[in-house]
Amino acid sequence: MRVVTEIAEVRDVRASMAEPYGLVPTMGFLHEGHLSLVRQARVECESVAVSIYVNPTQFGPSEDLEAYPSDLEQDLRMLESEGVDLVWTPTTEVIYPSGFQTWVTVNEISKHLEGTQRLGHFRGVATVVAKLFNVFQPQRAYFGQKDAQQMVLIRRMAVDLNFPIEVIACPTVREEDGLAMSSRNSYLNTEERKAATVLFRALTIASEAFKEGELDAGELRSLMSETITSEPLAQEQYVSVADPNTLEELQGKVQRALLSMAVYVGDTRLIDNVVVGEESK
Ligand code: AMP
Repeated sequence: MRVVTEIAEVRDVRASMAEPYGLVPTMGFLHEGHLSLVRQARVECESVAVSIYVNPTQFGPSEDLEAYPSDLEQDLRMLESEGVDLVWTPTTEVIYPSGFQTWVTVNEISKHLEGTQRLGHFRGVATVVAKLFNVFQPQRAYFGQKDAQQMVLIRRMAVDLNFPIEVIACPTVREEDGLAMSSRNSYLNTEERKAATVLFRALTIASEAFKEGELDAGELRSLMSETITSEPLAQEQYVSVADPNTLEELQGKVQRALLSMAVYVGDTRLIDNVVVGEESK
């Protein structure tokens, strides 16, 4: 496994890598969720590259950039044992050199859900992923359904900017009690860790109600909110029943929907989602 920091080194290693070649972008502090993406890429591609970069431009001024967890040595050990070929760990000087002023904005998709709470977040995400796509030039790129809006946004950007890259969605990996794996789970103390299962409980209650015939978007939102309210350590930021493709909030009866939420558990902001309903033919 080659671990490099400079763009020229990525291009150099990339030139000798077998194709099709898959990319897994990450912010490090890897867990089984990240590794599931790497494994899927490993199965579907001849070679696999991973980026580890905590992108400052996707963090708001009051967010957790400074506190974001990292353990590069452990990450590299994990990636080595997954058979990864290339890892890029750029510095911010490499990604945003002096004079940098070109940004990628995905207009409509960025306005909803996370975009209403994290201003500028998706401009940072779209810009850094466009840069990763340009530097790595993979045939495939793997993203987690855990960040459903990011997934939709990257797909849109890849089409709009003509990146010849297949963007592949991988299912959310969960702990045994349902909590979606996240590097941010490391912020939770023991009590908060127990309380954090409320996100998956709320999603499960709403998706089961949907399967039993509760198709009203407002009722589904209420079911999620009530469940979150029942957990004293949890504070809802938003719950949503949205169109899985446009991310617009739905009203009335729904056929297929992205159920999602952002919830503070103590000081830690967690997100989760599930999709309900059949894809229309
Ligand atoms: P991050 O390091 O949080 O930026 O995540 C890097 C990639 O891993 C993103 O595509 C995430 O959606 C994905 N990811 C994070 N957590 C999970 C999870 N629990 N299951 C599946 N994918 C995940």
